[in-house]
Amino acid sequence: MADPMTPAEWRAALRAEGVTFVELEGWTTRGRDAATGKPFGPVHGSLNHHTGGTNSLRVIAYDGQSSALPAPLAHGWLPKSGVVTLVSCHRANHAGLAALNSYQAILDEKPIPKPDKASGTVDGNDALYGLEVENLGNGTDLYTRAQYETWVRWNAAICRHHDWSEGSVAGHLETSVEGKPDPAGPVEGYGRRGRFTFTMAQLRADVRERLAHAPGWSPPTAEEAPTMTPAYVNLGLVHSYNLAVGDWDAVQFTQEWNDEAGDHTPDSPVFVQGVARFQGTLSLRFEGLPEGAVVQVRQSEYEGSTLKQDHPITEVIGTAGGTYGTVPLVNRIAAGRSMRIRLFNQSGEDVEVASAVLKALVWKES
Ligand SMILES: [Zn+2]
Repeated sequence: MADPMTPAEWRAALRAEGVTFVELEGWTTRGRDAATGKPFGPVHGSLNHHTGGTNSLRVIAYDGQSSALPAPLAHGWLPKSGVVTLVSCHRANHAGLAALNSYQAILDEKPIPKPDKASGTVDGNDALYGLEVENLGNGTDLYTRAQYETWVRWNAAICRHHDWSEGSVAGHLETSVEGKPDPAGPVEGYGRRGRFTFTMAQLRADVRERLAHAPGWSPPTAEEAPTMTPAYVNLGLVHSYNLAVGDWDAVQFTQEWNDEAGDHTPDSPVFVQGVARFQGTLSLRFEGLPEGAVVQVRQSEYEGSTLKQDHPITEVIGTAGGTYGTVPLVNRIAAGRSMRIRLFNQSGEDVEVASAVLKALVWKES
């Protein structure tokens, strides 16, 4: 036995759930209870509709659809702004006759079967809250993000107040014995989800997700989590080469195992171009470098073929039986600049660069 929400309960439930709303004059007294002699309640569910029109508030609140179907036609009206208008908290003409089989499933919070008139009918207006969501219902008119967000919150507010599950949320198309098609249509997005097609199953899933959180919860949005996937660059040498004494000499990476950043060509010493951040290592092996002698290594920035900036030097010191060195590569390179690795042989003898393997993750910036 659930009494319909009072105006104070409506306000508290909607505010707690983060529903933005305005109160239409007279909403706390407007209703069909006196005219029909059938007071609203006890309530058993939340029924959802689309209006099939534009600027529908006047019809819903005042004019009604016809003399046979006088206003109010819903408890709330939800336009594209996402700000719901409270129209009535009493009996409203929105549900019409509901098939008993689907109505019973809503009461039991069970999966709703196809409405079957032969199972019997009940007056849905006795027991169901009604929300009219503004949409042409032509299959192309979009429910806005703001509208769908409020839509989920409205249904969650009702369920939370009555301690119902999402199983108490239904669509007119699930109860109507006259073949009503609403609600339907494309939705602009919700949370991290982009455009999708409205279904009652999805609405119920979104209400269920809300109910699992505190009422003030908001679904995470895509904007909060930009992800940048780095490109992988892995370069090396096809053949060893001779590094003469003196003079800075750029490493030509002739082997390209990976170049996801796309900045390298096998005939160029450039391994990355701006704008980018990168992090990696350069592993070197020298033959013929005398014990204790030094090869200096540095990153150098170029514009075209013009040297613009040198970065600090790392020294690789000769050891007996071949020399190994690992140089960390961490840098940011600006627009129009490219990066090379340069070596300087400080020993008194020619040295063989037996291997030079560069591995880096590159975050390109636009
Ligand atoms: Zn409807």
